[in-house]
Amino acid sequence: MEITGKISEVREQVKEWRRQGLSVGLVPTMGYLHEGHKSLITRAVAENDRVVVSVFVNPMQFGPTEDLESYPRDMDRDAALCEEAGASLIFHPEPSEMYHEDFSSFVDMNTLTGGLCGKTRPIHFRGVCTVVSKLFNIVVPDRAYFGQKDAQQLAVIRHMVSDLNFGIEIVGCPIIREEDGLAKSSRNTYLNEEERKAALILNKALTEGRKLVESGEKDADAVRRVITDKINTEPLAKIDYVEVVDWNTLETVEKIDGPILAAIAVYIGKTRLIDNFIVE
Ligand code: AMP
Repeated sequence: MEITGKISEVREQVKEWRRQGLSVGLVPTMGYLHEGHKSLITRAVAENDRVVVSVFVNPMQFGPTEDLESYPRDMDRDAALCEEAGASLIFHPEPSEMYHEDFSSFVDMNTLTGGLCGKTRPIHFRGVCTVVSKLFNIVVPDRAYFGQKDAQQLAVIRHMVSDLNFGIEIVGCPIIREEDGLAKSSRNTYLNEEERKAALILNKALTEGRKLVESGEKDADAVRRVITDKINTEPLAKIDYVEVVDWNTLETVEKIDGPILAAIAVYIGKTRLIDNFIVE
């Protein structure tokens, strides 16, 4: 497995693979990799001849008060995990390699990005769409792998690929959890012992919400209420949002009569965690 920070070297490598008739998968990440990321890489390795993992903490998707500087990083560990999962190449650029001084083009979206995480993170999806477009143009993969953990991001990327004719298959992968149910996240490392216990409330609340939907509840407000009430039993938890939306349009639903996404963002202390479930 190779590691490079140079766009030109990625292009050269992929060109060589293409010459050999090999298929290429891409797994975009911000690093500090865990079993969630690994499940994406493993799937990509199973479905493609070669897999590129990008490790890039993208400054453009962080707001001015967010955790860009403190975001955890450990390239040696990431490299070991990628190697073990069977990746062929890690692309780990410096911000200056991705954004030249005179950088001034953006990919933005009018729908899908205003609600859910877009409300508290107004510039986030512009940053995500721009960097993922760049990665797609640099690697030009056959398939790219995204986790359902970031469900809004998955929907946004699918929509962008359709809008802009990227010709790349987007593969959504299930949420990987800790044994006690907490969704794996690089940001879990911010939690102290007490907060780590309190964070279990996200999955507990979603489990109650899912049970209600699966028992046939059609009133989305009833589902929101059950999830909200459960989260509010945890003193360390502060709700950012609890939403039930149409899984295709991400618009709020009143009556559940098609595929829905129930998504939550909750502060545990200072750490903002997200989780969700989808009922198709
Ligand atoms: P990140 O490094 O947080 O930007 O995540 C990179 C990719 O890994 C995204 O597509 C995430 O949705 C995915 N991912 C992160 N955590 C998980 C998880 N617990 N289960 C599945 N996929 C995940």
